Amino acid sequence: MAFELPELPYAYDALGEFMSAETLEYHHDKHHQAYVDNGNKLADAAGMSGNSLEEIVKASFGTNAGLFNNAAQHYNHMHFWHWMAPNGGGTKIPGNLEAAINSDLGGYDKFKADFMAAGATQFGSGWCWIAMKDGKLEIMKTPNGENPLVHGATPILGCDVWEHSYYIDYRNARPKYLEAFVDSLINWEYASELFEKASA
Ligand code: ZN
Repeated sequence: MAFELPELPYAYDALGEFMSAETLEYHHDKHHQAYVDNGNKLADAAGMSGNSLEEIVKASFGTNAGLFNNAAQHYNHMHFWHWMAPNGGGTKIPGNLEAAINSDLGGYDKFKADFMAAGATQFGSGWCWIAMKDGKLEIMKTPNGENPLVHGATPILGCDVWEHSYYIDYRNARPKYLEAFVDSLINWEYASELFEKASA
């Protein structure tokens, strides 16, 4: 199944000052498109174009770095666009997910501090996450295109801390970007859907 660039689920200017139209145009139209195009070429070359995206991500990890980087980044970004929404962020969290954040992550304030610390201390490019592992939520960070799938976990929420995600709007102030993501951008409804699926 060939990879395809999905449409953004909102207008380019919908996230306002927190993530500009210019950032979304470059990030979605150029960076994500490149992961799709390169991923398709490399999946063909590896004879894996008939496999699902998740299968390709898991099978290429540690065995085919070029394919893995592009396929995993395609997977990560498909979710990333949905992990944000206009008027998102803050404590408006659906009940079941909120209860799990309270029991597994020590509550919202501790989640926020730990998630931001994971993103701020990921040296170089990468991602910070809430992932579900062995039935519990945990905070993770991963380098480059790596994601919780290849560590036996399921992504519930992820934030892209590659410079291409924040440099236009925040320059080098990654912590400011992380704070804006948590306070004003997170689409908790989408995280909650993934949480319900992972819990089923
Ligand atoms: Zn990105």
